[in-house]
This record gives sequence, C-alpha cells and structure tokens, in this order.
Amino acid sequence: MKLKVAINGYGTIGKRVADAVALQDDMEVVGVTKTKPDFEARIAAKKFDLYLAKKENSELFQKAGIETCGTLEELLAKADIVVDCSPDKVGAENKKIYEKLSIKAIFQGGEKKEVAEVSFNALANYDQAKGKRFVRVVSCNTTALTRLIYLLKMNFKIGRVRATILRRISDPKEDNKGLMNAIMPDPIALPSHHAKDVKTVLPDVDIVTTAFKLPTTIMHVHSLSIEMKEKVKKEDVIAILEKEPRIMLVSAEDGFTSTAKIVEFARELRMRYDIFENVVWLESIAIDGNDLFVTQAVHQEAIVVPENIDAIRAIFGVEKRLSIEKTNRSLRIGEKNF
Ligand code: NAD
Repeated sequence: MKLKVAINGYGTIGKRVADAVALQDDMEVVGVTKTKPDFEARIAAKKFDLYLAKKENSELFQKAGIETCGTLEELLAKADIVVDCSPDKVGAENKKIYEKLSIKAIFQGGEKKEVAEVSFNALANYDQAKGKRFVRVVSCNTTALTRLIYLLKMNFKIGRVRATILRRISDPKEDNKGLMNAIMPDPIALPSHHAKDVKTVLPDVDIVTTAFKLPTTIMHVHSLSIEMKEKVKKEDVIAILEKEPRIMLVSAEDGFTSTAKIVEFARELRMRYDIFENVVWLESIAIDGNDLFVTQAVHQEAIVVPENIDAIRAIFGVEKRLSIEKTNRSLRIGEKNF
C-alpha cells in the first residue's frame, strides 16, 4: 500500500515536494492546496487533485473556472501525512488543524524548532524521526551545513566550525523583494541564527556562523573553516565527500567557475534546474595548519526536497539506508552524468 501524502502550500518548496512524492513507488500525492486561483493553481490542477487551502476562497476559484476537489480538511481526511509547505510561520498556525484532525505532519525550516518533536536531516538524524508525529525539515542553509559537518564529524575528529553564509536575496520568482546594488550583513550583530539551527540537528557541534545577503537569486554560497583535531590530508576529505551521493564535487577546471555555471549545468540536465546536492568546489578543499577550508554552493529551492521525502519514510519507520537510496535513485541524486 502506498503512503497517501497531502501537500499544504504549493509554492517553491511545495510544488517540488509534490513532484518528488509522485516519483516514489511507495507514496502517492492525494492532493495539493492553493490559496489563490492564479496560473500556478491552474498548473497544479492539471497535475494533481487541487483543494482549497482557505475554504472562504471557494467562490474565487469558481469564478476563475478552476475546479477544486474540496477543502483542506477534506484532503487531510484522505491522507496519511501532510507536508506543510506554507510560508514562514504559517505552518505553526496550520498545526492546530493537523492536531485537531490527528494527522502526522512535516514542517519546513521557516518554522521555529518548537513546531515539531524533532528537527530533521536525513544523513545526520534520520532515526530520531522514526515514529514521530511532527517533524521539521531544517532550512536550505542548515541542510547544507548539516550534511557537510555530519560527514566530517563521522570521519574525523573536528573542533570549532566557522561558516560564512552568502545568501541569495530572494528566489527567482519573487518580484516583491530585492537588493539591487549592495551587500547586506544579515544580521549585522554576530552570530547569525544558522549556527543555532544546525545545533537543532547536531547539538554537540561547536559552530559560529555569519551571514550576508547578496544581489543574486540562484544559489547560496558557504565558506567554511573547520578545526581538525587530528592530522588529515585534503585527499582524505575528498575521498569521504566523493562517496556521498548528496555531495556533488565540481571543479573550476571543468568550467564550474561560479554559481552561474553550476546552474547552467543543471539547466541542461535537471527539471527546473533543481540541484538537490551540496555543490562543493574541489579546488576549495584545502588544509592550512589545523584548519580545513571548504566552499560549497546550495540551490535553496531544491536542497530540502529529498529531506522531505526521507522524513516521510522516517515517520513511518522505514529503514534509513533504504529510504535514502530510493530517494536518491528517484531524483537522480549522485548520478555522475557529466
Ligand atoms: P512560497 O511562498 O513559495 O510558497 C508558499 C505557498 O503557500 C504559496 O503558494 C502560498 O500561496 C501558500 N499559502 C499561503 N498561506 C497558506 C496557508 N494558510 N495554508 C496553505 N498554504 C498557504 O514559500 P516557499 O519558499 O515554498 O517556503 C515554504 C517553506 O519552506 C517556508 O517555511 C520556507 O522557510 C521553507 N524553505 C524555503 C526555501 C526557499 O528557498 N524558498 C528553502 C528551504 C525552506
């Protein structure tokens, strides 16, 4: 029997999670919700059963000629689990509905950690989500940092991690936000919240983060320095990262000179140019004294999608390795196709 998954909130993350669920052989999308009858709702209705996120908007959908299958409550009655992909902090409001209807739910990184019993990253703490009712998939930046730090921590003795996060100002579709010609420390007072968020998954990591907003929409970039508490060669680090499908090692020699080139690569090979992996520059991996340096790029719209799929399976008790392998295969993560 396939797990019946509802998606509440069909924006940047929701549409990607819905498509990823549809690719799994052990899950099906029972429906998605939209708030407004716009072009995205029309496309959603062609692909999935469409429900009203807000029942008071029923007439608007009727007027626009977009057929819906019912209300959010009616959708949830058909589902085993809901993946909440509504905007920041709206998930916490929606949780009241999920509690009332006794349905399991996954929340996104825009919610506070208190929304769920566990904050989740598939590589780092999959088993902690087993059997839980409410799980929060951490944000794009936290997902990328956690994956990388977890791999290093599992293989080497590491000390303090320092990370500088260069954040894209908005997603490409957002025409109501921008930063035309400035670089904005965010926050100006240190540290940034990302370190605290990493600790919701890896509580014993000693980490400090700083963050800046940049006038770009396509990817974030992280520059990390990690104190190594044992002698390590850069080749040892490369060998560990090469083995992990959710890390994509790229080289400037191969033409990957910036985030623009990474996205151009993905435009050739991936739907919506989605990059589910941490993209690590091979040349950036360097050891200086006791410090390891690494630079990675993060496709903010896509990186949390495999984590949502694994979180669904974790909640239903599926074994970690089995879930991650299925997710990787279905989303073609780690395919060496260049
Ligand atoms: P989005 O604005 O693209 O999509 C949110 C969707 O939810 C929109 O279609 C909106 O109309 C709908 N919505 C509004 N109110 C709703 C309600 N009450 N019930 C159901 N749906 C409602 O936002 P997004 O970028 O997809 O972000 C969703 C979540 O994922 C946030 O928590 C965000 O922090 C997190 N996240 C976003 C990114 C990113 O880069 N975009 C990356 C990782 C995590």
